[in-house]
Amino acid sequence: MERHWEVLSPEHDMVWQADPQRERQLEAAAAFEPAPVAGRCTPGDGATRGWRMSGRSPPTSESAAKAGEKAPAAAPAMKSRRAAAQRRAKTPARAINRNFCNRDFCVPARMPDKDGPRVRRPVPVSYANSSPFMTSSSDRPATAPDARLIARFAAIVGADHAITDTSEQAPFLREWRDLYVGRTPLIVKPGSTEEVSRLLALANAEGVGVVAQGGNTGLVGGQIPSAAGTEIVVSLARMNRIRSVDPAGSTITVEAGVTLADAQHAARAAGRLFPLSLASEGSATIGGCLATNAGGVAVLSYGTARALTSGLEVVLADGRVWDGLKALKKDNTGYDLRDLFIGSEGTLGIITAATLRLHPEPQERATAFAALPNLDALLPFFRLAETHAGSALTAFEFMSGLLLAFVTRHIPGTRRPLAGEAPWFVLLEISGAQGNASALRDSLLARAAEEGLITDAAVAASLQQAADLWRLREAASEAQKGEGGSIKHDISVPVSRIPDFLVSAGDAVERICPGARPVPFGHFGDGNVHYNISQPPGMAREAFLALWDTMARAVHDVVVSLGGSISAEHGIGRLKRDELVRVKSPVEIDLMRRIKTALDPKGILNPGKLLEL
Ligand SMILES: Cc1cc2nc3c(=O)[nH]c(=O)nc-3n(C[C@H](O)[C@H](O)[C@H](O)COP(=O)(O)OP(=O)(O)OC[C@H]3O[C@@H](n4cnc5c(N)ncnc54)[C@H](O)[C@@H]3O)c2cc1C
Repeated sequence: MERHWEVLSPEHDMVWQADPQRERQLEAAAAFEPAPVAGRCTPGDGATRGWRMSGRSPPTSESAAKAGEKAPAAAPAMKSRRAAAQRRAKTPARAINRNFCNRDFCVPARMPDKDGPRVRRPVPVSYANSSPFMTSSSDRPATAPDARLIARFAAIVGADHAITDTSEQAPFLREWRDLYVGRTPLIVKPGSTEEVSRLLALANAEGVGVVAQGGNTGLVGGQIPSAAGTEIVVSLARMNRIRSVDPAGSTITVEAGVTLADAQHAARAAGRLFPLSLASEGSATIGGCLATNAGGVAVLSYGTARALTSGLEVVLADGRVWDGLKALKKDNTGYDLRDLFIGSEGTLGIITAATLRLHPEPQERATAFAALPNLDALLPFFRLAETHAGSALTAFEFMSGLLLAFVTRHIPGTRRPLAGEAPWFVLLEISGAQGNASALRDSLLARAAEEGLITDAAVAASLQQAADLWRLREAASEAQKGEGGSIKHDISVPVSRIPDFLVSAGDAVERICPGARPVPFGHFGDGNVHYNISQPPGMAREAFLALWDTMARAVHDVVVSLGGSISAEHGIGRLKRDELVRVKSPVEIDLMRRIKTALDPKGILNPGKLLEL
C-alpha cells in the first residue's frame, strides 16, 4: 500500500547543541506576562492587553484602581515558570528536523530533560480577552478582621510569613488573565498543617472568610479574594515538602504547596511516573490541582487528578484535621470523603497533603499529527485508535484547520507539519515498550489511511519533533489573540456526541453573530472541547465580547441537551457560579448546599465561590 503520510525520518535530523540565541529566546518566552485588563470591556483598553515582555505588570487597571491598590508586581507563578524555563533551557543537546521546524524561532512546549525522556515546559498562554463575567465585586462579605485580629492571625505563622503591605500582596490578588482582582487585609503563609489548623480555628470562631491559594493559575477566579477586602488569603506556597516516596507501593506523599512539576520530578527520580500534566505545571500546586480536579493531556490513559489520588490530609473549617492519607486501592467504608474534597475548590476544607498514585514510566512515546478529510472521520478515527492501541493510546487531541492556521500565522517558529489543507487535525500519542509504540502508531496510521479516515500524517522521529508537534496544540489558546476578541468555553459531552455538539453549537453561534469563527480544540478522547470563538474579521472587539453571556448560554444549552458539563476541567469558581445554578437540577444544587452547610456552617471557606448560599 502506498504511504500517504510524510515520514520525518532521522536522516533529516541535526543535533542542536546549546545555543545562546536559543536560550535567550526560551528565557524571553518565559518572561511573557499578561498585560492588565480593565474591569470591563471598554473602548481603547485593547491596547494594554496581551502578553508583553516585562518583569513587572504595567500601571493600575481600572479594577485595581477601584480597589485602591498599587500597580501589581509580577505574579509568583510567573517567577516560578521563568525559573523552570531557565532550568530547562540548560538542557544540553536536542535533535530537531529542519524540514519541520524553523530552528531559529521554534520554542517547543515539550522537550527532553536531563532527568527524563520528556518534560512539558510551562507555556505562557495569552489571555487577551476580558469578559462580561469579569468582576471584582464582593459576593458575600464576611466580617472584616480588625487590627487586633489580624495580629492574632499573623502571630500563628510568624511576622515573616504574614503580608499586609499592598505592593507585596499584589501578585497574589490578580489572576493570570486579569479577569479578577481582589483585596485582602492579610496574606498568611503557614509552614505546617498545625498552623493551618490554628488559622482556620480562629477564622471560624471570629467569622472571617478564608481563601486558599496554591500557584494562582486557576482559570475561574476561585483563588482570588473579593474586592471587599474582608477575607484573608492562606497561601500554601511554604508547604512544599515531599513527605515520602514509595516506589514499591507506587505512591508519593506530598504537601499541598508542592508544584506539579516538582511532584513529577520526585516520582521520576524514584523511577516512576506521576502522569498528571498541564501547561501550568511549573506553578500549579498539588493542592490546587486536587481542589480543581485538574485534567490536562494525559487523562485519556490515567484519569483526572481524582483518579491519581489515593488519600488526603484536610483541615476542616473549624480547624480539625482529617488524616485520610491512605495508600489503599480499595476502601469501602462508607461515604468517600476524599472524593468530596477533590474538586471542592477550597469551599469545604484546606488540603494540606496528599498521597498520589504513581505509574510505570513508558519506555517510548510515539507521536503523530494527522489530517482528517471531514468531521465525520473524527469519531471513527478515535475508535480505531482506541481499538488498535488499547490502553497504549495516551493522547488524542484535536483541533480545527482554521485554528492550525491561526497557530502558524501568529506563533513564531511554528509551521505546518503537512503540506495540504484539512478541516480537522489530530495529534495522537501512543506509549509503550521500546519499539512497540512506534510500530503501533505506524500500523494505526496505515489502517486509518486505508479506511479513508485520514488523508495525510506526519510522525515525529525524535523527541524534539514530538515537542514541536505538541507546540502546535499547546499554542492553540495563545494563537487566538492574534485574531481579535475570543469567547471561550471549557465543556464536555459524551465522546460520541462531540460531532453533534460541534454542528449544533456552530449553528447557535452563527445565529447570534453571523461570521463569528469557532475554533474548537481539546482532549477529544475525554469528550472535552475548548469551544473558543474568534470574532468576525472587521467587527469591533468590544461589540463581540459584549455577546459573551448570550453566546455562553447558547453553547451551554447545547451542552446540556447532549448530557454534557459546562466545566470539563477548570472548575466553577466565580466565572461559572451563576451558570451552575441554571444548568444543574434543583436536587443537585440542594444537595451541594447541604454538603457545604454541613462542613462549613459559618460559610468562611472561599465565600462566594462555586455555590451561592
Ligand atoms: C497556561 C495554563 C494552562 C492550564 N492548563 C490546564 C489544563 O490543561 N487542565 C486543567 O485542568 N487546568 C489547566 N489550567 C488551570 C490551572 O492550572 C489548574 O486549575 C490548577 O489545578 C490550579 O492549581 P493552582 O495551584 O494554581 O491553584 P490556584 O489557582 O491557586 O487555586 C485554584 C482553586 O483551588 C483552591 N485551592 C488552591 N489550593 C488549595 C488547597 N491547598 N486546598 C483547598 N483549596 C485550594 C483555590 O481556592 C481555588 O479555588 C491551566 C492554567 C494555565 C494558566
